[in-house]
Amino acid sequence: MRAIFLGAPGTGKGTQAQYLALKYSIPQISTGDILRKAVQDGTELGKKARVIMESGQLVSDDIIIGLVKERIDQDDCKNGYLFDGFPRTIKQAESLDAMLGDRETLDVVVYFDVAEQEIIKRLTSRRVCGQCGNVYSTIYNPPPASGICEKCGGKVIHRDDDTVETVKNRLAVYEQNTAPLKAYYERQGKLRVVDGGLPVEQVRENIDAIFAEEKTYR
Ligand code: AMP
Repeated sequence: MRAIFLGAPGTGKGTQAQYLALKYSIPQISTGDILRKAVQDGTELGKKARVIMESGQLVSDDIIIGLVKERIDQDDCKNGYLFDGFPRTIKQAESLDAMLGDRETLDVVVYFDVAEQEIIKRLTSRRVCGQCGNVYSTIYNPPPASGICEKCGGKVIHRDDDTVETVKNRLAVYEQNTAPLKAYYERQGKLRVVDGGLPVEQVRENIDAIFAEEKTYR
């Protein structure tokens, strides 16, 4: 199964990807997580990416495409993978098509549809484990009072780019660069839309049904 979770930041892609990757035993590939790790480790890539990420802009296509190429060549990607936060531009989508070539196909692109007001509420209330990426929300699913993730013991943090100002910027960047991918994958006949405004369990069930259908028809 090779799938993409497409949608604005804060629409639930990461939360759902975590669950489905586990269920289908395929890796979740989050370019945001790869970049955050590089920032944490203070690598050359991390130094370049940090300022861009803090401002809510996109890291260059060449860097992202290089990272993804390297990642999908690894052994654990043989049976598929689930992209979360990639591709984010038409150029990235075209490069992915070229990487897959004629031998491999992308099975499905799940588009998460959520109203903008809800996205802003979710992102500004979001807290994440800096170690395992587990997602909390001060409104819907508060982190433990200790500030320690109950899954892995890591520290729960407020991401630098989840502030009101940066969130607005990220949404504008999304509209301009990433939203056109919806039509791109619709033309390829791969797009499936889920209502990401529904409760987490309901969205999960709906995506489960889409994946089950894809498996049947493959
Ligand atoms: P995310 O965790 O997916 O919201 O990504 C956090 C930040 O990392 C984004 O706001 C971008 O600055 C950068 N980033 C992540 N994925 C990509 C991508 N595919 N293309 C360009 N920039 C990215």
